[in-house]
Amino acid sequence: MTEPVPASESADVVVIGAGVSGLGFANWYRERRPGARVLVLESESEPGGYCRTIEQDGFVWDYSGHFFHFKEPAIEAWLRARMPGQEVRTVLRRALIRYAGRDIDFPFQTHIHQLPLDEFLECLVELYFRPTGDGPPRSFGEMLYRRLGRGITDKFLRPYNEKLYAIDLDDLDVDAMGRFFPHADISDVIANMRPGAGRREGYNATFTYPAGGAVSYIRALLRDLPEGSVSCGEPALSIDLDARCVITPRRRIHYEHVVSSAPLPALARIAGVPHDPSVFTSNQVLVYNLGFDRKGPRGVHWMYFPDRSSSFYRVGWYDNIFDTDRMSLYVEIGAPHGTSLAPAAVDALRARVLADLAREQITAGHHLVAHHHVVLDPAYVHITRASLAETARLRAALAARGVHSVGRYGGWTYCSIEDNLVETRALAATLAP
Ligand SMILES: Cc1cc2nc3c(=O)[nH]c(=O)nc-3n(C[C@H](O)[C@H](O)[C@H](O)COP(=O)(O)OP(=O)(O)OC[C@H]3O[C@@H](n4cnc5c(N)ncnc54)[C@H](O)[C@@H]3O)c2cc1C
Repeated sequence: MTEPVPASESADVVVIGAGVSGLGFANWYRERRPGARVLVLESESEPGGYCRTIEQDGFVWDYSGHFFHFKEPAIEAWLRARMPGQEVRTVLRRALIRYAGRDIDFPFQTHIHQLPLDEFLECLVELYFRPTGDGPPRSFGEMLYRRLGRGITDKFLRPYNEKLYAIDLDDLDVDAMGRFFPHADISDVIANMRPGAGRREGYNATFTYPAGGAVSYIRALLRDLPEGSVSCGEPALSIDLDARCVITPRRRIHYEHVVSSAPLPALARIAGVPHDPSVFTSNQVLVYNLGFDRKGPRGVHWMYFPDRSSSFYRVGWYDNIFDTDRMSLYVEIGAPHGTSLAPAAVDALRARVLADLAREQITAGHHLVAHHHVVLDPAYVHITRASLAETARLRAALAARGVHSVGRYGGWTYCSIEDNLVETRALAATLAP
């Protein structure tokens, strides 16, 4: 028996992925070309990508802690215009680092004066006598030693980031975290020790968070798209670059442009573009969302755990945003990409997480009343010289054939949802001048 021939259609733009990037692009493009036919394909059964929310037993959890920092007021206003009547809170961030049993304000480098005296002096002396080196630093790890010295690096920056990235920091590019790394020079560190200097914040001094969770932003992005323009459960299986056609299990779609937010190496594979998959390494993040019977610590939104004896690198409190009466946590664990997380391993690790939460005195006789977990893979990509070069080459080669790779994983980068919206706004302006 011969296979049925899939139906053939056409669209001005086929968008691959209904996360923030794909949906953002669909909105921006249709604003410029209101009658355009934009079809968004999503392989999962629902839209949202990593910006999804779970409601369970009265708890509201995101796929991972998603708190929002908008640098460009116009972007936030554009989103909020699509969320009439919905509460969005602006919260003054309180982020702490659990270090040797005490809590230090984040970022570590500008709060070393909160350390025990001997460790404070060690960090200060090492900062003053930090190595200068010849030429520019060759890796993220070397950049940290040269900017902040061995004390600050070895006590927090290296152990914390190696837990998160699940890789040696000497294998990452100097600019692996871009603007998300809270840079500080020696005068910033010392100025912050002045009495009354207050807490010196990193890139995210305040954050916003919508009632209903991160998916509220996805609902906002779906609001103005015409019926039928987002097709869930329909993966793009391959792209025929010569015929300008995307093939799914249901149909062949002829396009003028493709805009894809699928991970770049996956896009290159389905488009049949030769590439080097070995340069695209990443970590995965296992997220446990945990609901307890009563309130826990107050006045903290998230906490970093550099100590390798704790299973997690970060814990966040949803209940301290809207001041709800039961502790609602997300707990994040970094692991190398592809680490097998069979159900028995997930259960065993949850038991370890609960023991570590008790040891860190985050729980004290609390009862776990609801739980959920999700694996984000890829979560943080490893930005290296080789990945930067191959990403630039592949994106240019694909763009020359009308396929534009965007978003956190399409750009193989470190970014926020605001960056996704800024990037797709610019692409829409280029494709629909
Ligand atoms: C642990 C963690 C914490 C974060 N915290 C924050 C935060 O606090 N604030 C913030 O602003 N940002 C945060 N981010 C970043 C934010 O999640 C991303 O910037 C954003 O969700 C990326 O959206 P995207 O659309 O580019 O990609 P994705 O959300 O990955 O969406 C891509 C979509 O494409 C679909 N897809 C893939 N392949 C195919 C195919 N072949 N066919 C059809 N569909 C396909 C996928 O199913 C997915 O739905 C965080 C990220 C992580 C990992």
